[in-house]
Amino acid sequence: MERSVNVAVIGGGQAGLATSWYLSQAKVDHVVLESGRVAETWRSRRWVSFHVVTPNRFVQLPGAEYDAPDPDGFMPLAQLIDHFQSWADSFDAPVEGNTTVKTLEADHDGFRLALPSGSFKARTVVVATGAYQRPHRPAGAESLPHDVVQILAEEYSNPAALCGRCVWIPRRLEGHDLVWWMVESGFMDRTPDKLPSPGARLLGNPQATGHDGGRDLHFRVLHEMGVELLGRYGGADGSKLRFADDLAASVDFGDARLVDLLKFVEASCTAKGTTAPTFEMPPPLRIKTRAELDIAKDGIGTVIWTSGYRPDYGWVKFPVFDGMGFPIQVDGCTTVPGLYFMGVHWMRKNKSSILYGVGEDAETRTFWGAPVLRGLIPRSDGLTLRARHVMVNNSFQTLADVRLKPGGHGALVDVALRSSYFVSAFITLWLGLAIVFNLFLLVTGHFQDLRFALAFPIFGFGLLALGRLLCFADRSSLLDFVRMVLSTE
Ligand SMILES: Cc1cc2nc3c(=O)[nH]c(=O)nc-3n(C[C@H](O)[C@H](O)[C@H](O)COP(=O)(O)OP(=O)(O)OC[C@H]3O[C@@H](n4cnc5c(N)ncnc54)[C@H](O)[C@@H]3O)c2cc1C
Repeated sequence: MERSVNVAVIGGGQAGLATSWYLSQAKVDHVVLESGRVAETWRSRRWVSFHVVTPNRFVQLPGAEYDAPDPDGFMPLAQLIDHFQSWADSFDAPVEGNTTVKTLEADHDGFRLALPSGSFKARTVVVATGAYQRPHRPAGAESLPHDVVQILAEEYSNPAALCGRCVWIPRRLEGHDLVWWMVESGFMDRTPDKLPSPGARLLGNPQATGHDGGRDLHFRVLHEMGVELLGRYGGADGSKLRFADDLAASVDFGDARLVDLLKFVEASCTAKGTTAPTFEMPPPLRIKTRAELDIAKDGIGTVIWTSGYRPDYGWVKFPVFDGMGFPIQVDGCTTVPGLYFMGVHWMRKNKSSILYGVGEDAETRTFWGAPVLRGLIPRSDGLTLRARHVMVNNSFQTLADVRLKPGGHGALVDVALRSSYFVSAFITLWLGLAIVFNLFLLVTGHFQDLRFALAFPIFGFGLLALGRLLCFADRSSLLDFVRMVLSTE
């Protein structure tokens, strides 16, 4: 028989494990399907000398917050991988390794997942396959001569300076790390609607490194180190590589983003009545750049692409993606009942995809918090919900008739089933009484008609079945239940 699970989490990185942690806390039956091993991306898609870029104190994974003597340090990769493994072991995360989900599609009462070993059914699916999925190669990459070796940053294994058009922030301001300022000022809590455009989700993270206790590594530092900086790559003509004359614009872009952040921090300090950090902006970086390199004359043997990442969900066969390939979701919920995402870049906030923020998202998304049942009403335009207990976008309402704000995004609706506990208790009592009543008839010699004797418990079983339906928690169809309990106007 085809295997079937209640909840399938796809991906065993921080997003999948954070989800699994909350599911485990709520004792919700689930599996984590992982292509490789726990934290596979950290194991096989980072370079040997990698250190985390965010200080250790910002490793805030649920049940695995950093709690060692070096909160301001930057742990090396091996230590981070150990941290992940101990975390997964600590709650016995039900990870099934070496299991790549090849396609995810609809099944009549849930989802069908195609695995190398066959297919698999799940009622609820959480896709947590990574924020940084498909490495991006810029236009013109294909025109490079074949004898030049091309590798991606994640295939790179030795130290060197790698860059593009990037934001930079000084590693420390007034003695505090840049991430500390981003957290303290609320910069990390910015929601996607604060972005200037959807495309801004692809903007690179600030240039900095966790090496040597954390230090600056931006364009100016690279220039001082003797790295030759060039403009945007424009393609190759034979052995000639073309570069735009736009290095100054790229550096200015990063400077402008730094000014944005400093203003944000200043406003936050003013609001809190604390002292804002002072920072003197360096003069604009103006370097004469070459417009062309010659592969042979300049001795170029390898090109390392460090041009960012793009979403890659081609295997998810649901129309829940925007034009850039990002899932369309609210708090991880899609318009497909039972299909959720976790760990998506800018999913709820700036910090959604990093070690510091994914735990908050996974907690917020506790549709798994039995006996609370949650679902998404695809469009919330003027919808009125009637239910005894309703949770709307995380605010618990005990009474019916919750008017949802009109809007195209849809609303997260959580129906708490506490009342059904009373139903269960009542039915148990009823059955108990039926048994006692029949025993009484038997013992006193009044037991005459079997149908009459059975009617009482059968009626009770009917009620029990109804009670189970109401108490199904995460077993029965979410949508059916929502239809049953809610009515729309
Ligand atoms: C170079 C780099 C450095 C970073 N450094 C930091 C840092 O210092 N601090 C910080 O907070 N953040 C950092 N991040 C950001 C973020 O923390 C990481 O990208 C992190 O790996 C995201 O976790 P995740 O669980 O969302 O995805 P991943 O860690 O990528 O986990 C996804 C998992 O899903 C599995 N998977 C994928 N597809 C399938 C499938 N079809 N079926 C089954 N399994 C599948 C993968 O094998 C993988 O294990 C960095 C990102 C990059 C790219």
